[in-house]
Amino acid sequence: MGVFALTGSATGIGAAIKTQLRDNGHQVIVVDLAEGDICADLSALAGRQKAIDGIRALAPDGLDGFIPCAGLGPSVRPLSLIPQVNYFAAVAMTEGLLDLLLGRKGSVVMIASNSAAMVGHDEYVELMLNDQELEACGYIGDKDGHSAYAGSKHALSCWLRRNAPEYARQGVRINAVAPGIINTPLSDKVLADKDLGAVMKDFGDSVPLGKTGEPEQIADVVCFILSRKASFMAGSIVFVDGGHDAMLRPDQF
Ligand code: NAD
Repeated sequence: MGVFALTGSATGIGAAIKTQLRDNGHQVIVVDLAEGDICADLSALAGRQKAIDGIRALAPDGLDGFIPCAGLGPSVRPLSLIPQVNYFAAVAMTEGLLDLLLGRKGSVVMIASNSAAMVGHDEYVELMLNDQELEACGYIGDKDGHSAYAGSKHALSCWLRRNAPEYARQGVRINAVAPGIINTPLSDKVLADKDLGAVMKDFGDSVPLGKTGEPEQIADVVCFILSRKASFMAGSIVFVDGGHDAMLRPDQF
């Protein structure tokens, strides 16, 4: 059975991934703010390093997979937390664990979002891709939650596409799932937000499949991509959103 590391495992999508992997007999090393094998605040450099060191200690023989699932939604304040956790922590941890993945030809599944396709490739995205964390946080500080969130996922998707070929040459598959609206504590907070709630409710009502998703429906696809059944997938971003992206961008794929 495999050895996997997962961030953001306490609730929502991460909790569902943890359950499915463990139900399939795998060892899952979990990282979260206040519970799990390693408690670490991934918004800060020290927390990311603590998480990397902790995973190394618990997986001395390497990793079959890594899922950087920890993330914050557009209702979170300060907005700088969004790029810190959604982009910089996911990238730093993937890079920091690469050698553990190389040895076992491991697989990374990132959690992007269908919202990534709703914003352009702007200065904020470029700052993230240029690894300018302070500048990206400063840039987004006085903007809006949707731009902060969707931009962080746009940058993460670009990072994946730029890096997946080189990782693949080394035998490590990196792919992403791009969920639509999934019923988790994150989306509950957005629905309850006075500025974002109404738009989110309307958006949820327009999902072509007729309802918003459940965390297990994302975990199903993540576990498939991690498995040998997806052994030729590399650099893919899979929309799991009830048809929303196809509805909004029919001619782009
Ligand atoms: P969630 O709030 O249920 O889970 C997020 C997890 O991340 C929690 O366990 C939380 O404790 C952890 N976390 C947050 N900040 C952290 C930090 N600083 N350090 C360590 N851990 C931290 O939300 P979710 O909806 O399950 O989100 C999981 C992922 O899915 C996120 O990356 C999110 O952006 C993405 N996503 C969610 C949706 C949705 O509609 N729910 C849609 C698209 C993408």
